[in-house]
Amino acid sequence: MSAEDRPAVEGPLLSVVVPVFNEAASVEILIERLRAVLEPLPLDWRVLFVDDGSTDGTAAALEGLRAADPRLGWLRLSRNFGKEVAMTAGLDRAEGDAVIIIDADLQDPPELIPQLIERWRDGYDVVYAQRTARAGERWLKRATAAAFYRLINRVSDTPIPPDTGDYRLLSRRAVDALGGLRERHRFMKGLYAWVGFRQVAVPYRREPRHAGKSKFGYWRLWNFAVDGITSFTSAPLKFATYLGLAAAVTALSYGVVVIAKTLMFGDPVRGYPSMMAVILFLGGVQLIALGIIGEYLGRLFDEAKQRPLYLVDDYRAPAGTETAPRESTPAR
Ligand code: UDP
Ligand code: MG
Repeated sequence: MSAEDRPAVEGPLLSVVVPVFNEAASVEILIERLRAVLEPLPLDWRVLFVDDGSTDGTAAALEGLRAADPRLGWLRLSRNFGKEVAMTAGLDRAEGDAVIIIDADLQDPPELIPQLIERWRDGYDVVYAQRTARAGERWLKRATAAAFYRLINRVSDTPIPPDTGDYRLLSRRAVDALGGLRERHRFMKGLYAWVGFRQVAVPYRREPRHAGKSKFGYWRLWNFAVDGITSFTSAPLKFATYLGLAAAVTALSYGVVVIAKTLMFGDPVRGYPSMMAVILFLGGVQLIALGIIGEYLGRLFDEAKQRPLYLVDDYRAPAGTETAPRESTPAR
């Protein structure tokens, strides 16, 4: 099918990208709710699921959905690449004048879409949904998330709005701009902010998960936070420099004290505890600094390898949107 076969509906084309990883219990209900919201709108719409290496019945469920309605398409990645990459794969192929990214677990209410579209029609390029409440999330997750946004906004030059997820509408030029950013460690919330253009928030209430558990445990969230910070600021490297400088100055003044004491009172063999303290402290400072350098070096290594961001196992484009994906053209 080509673009001309697209059913003639008045208005622009909207694509909805849904990253899915083991969400067989949610996709059908999501589609029902999406359809209820999208059908009355004066626009043409498509939904593209990105199956991020699911191992439950998700692939079969998606095939069933597409058989029933060819406006739904799916892209199956060769394995689990993580949500950030799955969204990128979807954005690479999503067609239309605007693209909405939404979670499959119904934590992002599809009923907000008309409001997102309204703001887009007002001329905004990035319309992001901002949570006013996070139902069904423990206080520890909320507290750590708040601390993370405070930290990253203090150290990074790209202000990242707190309490936003990936649920948002992107205009065509915002999608194209994002498509040009091919870094491997993708902190999407930072990348959306980095592209700039006109951005606006729409408040909403975040619901608890429809089924199953969050795929982001604390270890994964920690790594996500480290990725976010290292991708958007080199402040930790500066921190290492100043920590080293402070340690060196302290060591120097202590050295002066030791020499003066020796000159004044002679040199009795003492000072084992202070020596151990200094050695251990300096050793610790050096390891911290090395670790910080290592974090950046590791990321440089990953970039230098120039591997593709993801591999595609199979693809059924939503009807009428079968054009060449961005990834098939050389990235640089
Ligand atoms: N997801 C994905 N790949 C992954 C992990 C998650 O595509 O490796 C999808 C998942 O299916 C869901 C969305 O990303 O549609 C958000 O995941 P989740 O609900 O687990 O995250 P949380 O809401 O806890 O931040
Ligand atoms: Mg969720």
